[in-house]
Amino acid sequence: MVDLKQLNDEQRKAVEFVGTQQIVLAGAGSGKTKVTNYKVAFLIKKGLKPDSILALTYTNKAAGEIRAKVKELVGKKADSISIGTFQSIFANILRTEAKHINYRDNFSIYDVEDSLSLVSNVMEALGIEVDGLTSNTVRHRISYLKNHMINPVEYRKKIAKTKKDKLIADIFEEYQNRLVANNSMDFEELLLETIKLFSSKKQVLQKYKKKFKYIIVDEFQDTNKTQYKILKLLVSRSCKVTVVGDDSQGIFGWKGANLKNMHAFKKDFKNHKLFKLEQNFRSTKTILTAADSVIKNNKDQYVKTLYTQNNDGEQLTLIKCADEKDEAFQLAKYIKKEISKKKLSYKDFAILYRTNAQSRALEDIFRKEKVPHTLIGGLEFYRRKEVKDVIAYLRVIANTNDEESLLRIMNFPQRGIGNTTVTRMIAFARKHEITLFQTMSRVFEVIDIKERIQKNVKGFRLLLEKYIELKDKLSLGELSRALVDELGLIRMFKSEHTAEANQRIQNINRLLQIITEYSDANKGATLDEFLEEVSLTSGIDMYDEEKNAVTLLTLHSAKGMEFPIVFISGCEEEIFPLANKFSEDTSVEEERRLFYVGMTRAEQKVFISHARSRYRFGEVAYQSRSRFIDEIKPAALEEVNGGIGRKANRKTKKELFYEYFNSVDYDDFDQDNKVVHIGSRVMHEKFGLGKVVDVTGVGDQVKATVNFEGNNVRQLMLKFARLKILH
Ligand code: ATP
Ligand code: MG
Repeated sequence: MVDLKQLNDEQRKAVEFVGTQQIVLAGAGSGKTKVTNYKVAFLIKKGLKPDSILALTYTNKAAGEIRAKVKELVGKKADSISIGTFQSIFANILRTEAKHINYRDNFSIYDVEDSLSLVSNVMEALGIEVDGLTSNTVRHRISYLKNHMINPVEYRKKIAKTKKDKLIADIFEEYQNRLVANNSMDFEELLLETIKLFSSKKQVLQKYKKKFKYIIVDEFQDTNKTQYKILKLLVSRSCKVTVVGDDSQGIFGWKGANLKNMHAFKKDFKNHKLFKLEQNFRSTKTILTAADSVIKNNKDQYVKTLYTQNNDGEQLTLIKCADEKDEAFQLAKYIKKEISKKKLSYKDFAILYRTNAQSRALEDIFRKEKVPHTLIGGLEFYRRKEVKDVIAYLRVIANTNDEESLLRIMNFPQRGIGNTTVTRMIAFARKHEITLFQTMSRVFEVIDIKERIQKNVKGFRLLLEKYIELKDKLSLGELSRALVDELGLIRMFKSEHTAEANQRIQNINRLLQIITEYSDANKGATLDEFLEEVSLTSGIDMYDEEKNAVTLLTLHSAKGMEFPIVFISGCEEEIFPLANKFSEDTSVEEERRLFYVGMTRAEQKVFISHARSRYRFGEVAYQSRSRFIDEIKPAALEEVNGGIGRKANRKTKKELFYEYFNSVDYDDFDQDNKVVHIGSRVMHEKFGLGKVVDVTGVGDQVKATVNFEGNNVRQLMLKFARLKILH
C-alpha cells in the first residue's frame, strides 16, 4: 500500500474516500496538491489501471510535479497516467479524433501572440479602423466571449448593442473562419472543439467515459466555464471525480475562470462529499494571521479555518521606497542581509510583482548588485522573435494551411517578397478559395507581380516543399538543423556583430538543442507533437528550481509554489490592486485573493515593498500605498524606514518630475489638437501632474479645471497653458 503515514488524518480520509464525487476545499498550504498526488497513487495501488486515471492541473510544470511524486510512490506505472493541463490533454484527444471535427490532425495551436496577429490581419482585411478599437481590445473581447461559450452569431444577436460591438462581431466571425481555414486553434478553441466533439459524437464521448474511471482536478477554483463543461460531460456513474481547490485563491477571473464552478459542482453532483483540510504545513503563524486578516475583507468566500503548528515566526516587514530603482536596491540589500543572518541561499527567495513590466528595474539593479536571479515570464524563450521564426517554419512544414506562420516567414530571411506581393497573393487566394501556400505555386497567375518576384516566391515554395518531403525521413533534430543551416540564419546574425545578434544565435542554438533532446527522449515523436508542446509551454514550465538564484515572477505564476522568503513588491494603489482597463471581470476582491496567494507562498517570512513614485506608461506616477497593506493586522507588520544604505540617487519627488518633464519632447504629444476631457491626465511645468475635472468654453476659449497634486485646483486657458496631455 502507499504509505499514508505522511498524511494527517484529514488528508488521509480525503485520499481514501472513493464513494461518490468529492470536493476537497481547503486553504493555502494545507496539502491539497499533496492529497492530489497521494490520491492518484492510492487509486493505482487499489488496482485502477494507470491509464484510466486523468489528473488535470494548471501548468505543465505542476503536471510534471504530480507525475514525479506519483512515480516516487508507485514507480513506472506513473508513466501511463494521463496528467496534464486541460489544453494539453484535450489537444491530444482532438488529434486522435480529428476525423470527427472540422480540423485535420496536424492543426497548429496559436498562442496569444499568434491570435493577436490573426485579429490584426482580419481587421485589416475587413478594413475596420475605429477609434479606440485596437487589435488587443478585440482579441481580449473574443477570448472573453469564447471563454463564456458565446459564439459570433449569439454575440451579434443577443449582446452586441453599439456599432463598435457589431464590428467586433464581424471580426469575431471572420476570425473563427480563418482559424478553420488555417487549420489552427487558439487556446480557447481547443476546449470549445472538445465540447463540440463530446456533445455531437456520442460514441466518442462514450469511448472516453469508458476509458477514464477517475478524474482529479487540482486548482479547481481556476477552471473556467468551458473546462467545467468538459468535466461534466465526462463524469458519470462509472467515472468518479475529485476536485481540489481553494476559493480564496481564485485569481483567473480575467481569463474566464469562474469561482461559481464550486457552487455549480455542489449543485450538479448532489451526492458529493465535501472534505476540508484545516492544517497549514507551509507558513508561520504570523504569516497565516496576516493573510487571514487581509482575505477576510472579501465578502464572497467559503468559511475556512486554517491553523498551523509551525512557529510564530517573524513579523512581516514593510519597506518604503522612493521609486522603483530604490525598491530594487533595497530588496537586493535585504536579500543579502537575510542570507548572512540565516542559513539561506539565493534560491530561497522569490520576488513577486503584479505586472511583468516591474521586473525590469529589478533585473537591472540585481545585475549591478550581483544578485543572481532568474526571471520567469517576461519575454519567454518561445516568444522571442528568432525562436518564433524558426518555429513558424516548422509549423508551415507541419501544416501548410497555417497562414499566420507562413506570413511570418514569407520574407524572413529577406528574399524579395514584399508586402504588396503578399497582399496580392492573399486576394488571389481568397478569390479562388485556396490557401496562401497553394497560391504560391500559382503565383504566375497572380496579376501585377513582377517576374523576378514570382521567381522568389517559387524558390521559397520549393524550399518549403523540400522540408515537407524530408519531414518523415529525418529526425526532428536533423530536420531543424538542416533547415536553420539552409536558411543561413546563424551566418546572417554573425555578420551583424552586435550583442543582440549574438543573443539571437544563442537562442537559435538553444532551440535546436531542445528539439534534439526532445526527439531523443521521445522516440518516434512527430513534429506536430513537438509543436504542440511548444505552444502549450508557459514561462513557468521552463523554471529550473535547482539553480541558486532569486526567482522573479508575477503573482499569478507563483500559484501553487512555495519559497522560504517572499517579497511582494510594488504594493501601490492602481498597481496592486491593479486598475486594469482590459479585464471585464476584474474586481478588487480578485486582486485581494491574489495578495492572499502571494503572502501564503512564504514559509518563513514576507517582505512587502511600495514606492512613492514609479515610471509607468512613460510617465512618473505617484501612488499611495496599497489598501491591502493597511488591511494587514498591525501586530503582524513591522514598518521600516526606507533609504537605509541605499545607493539610488536620492531625488526629490520634484526633481524626478522635472527630469521627466524635460525628457519628454513637447512634440510627443498631440499638442496642436489639444483635446482634453474630464479625466484626462495632464502635466504642467509648475503645478506638476493633474487630472482634468472640468472643461468649459469652445475654440480658443477652452478652459480646463485641473486638480493638480496636493489638491491644487487651477483653471487654465488651454491656449496658453503649457499643458502636456498624457492621455
Ligand atoms: P496551495 O494552496 O498553495 O496550492 P496546497 O494546499 O496545495 O497549497 P501543498 O503544496 O500540497 O498545499 O502543501 C504545502 C506544503 O506542506 C508542502 O511543502 C507539503 O509538502 C507540506 N505538507 C502537506 N501536508 C503535509 C503533512 N501531512 N506533513 C508534512 N508536510 C506536509
Ligand atoms: Mg497546491
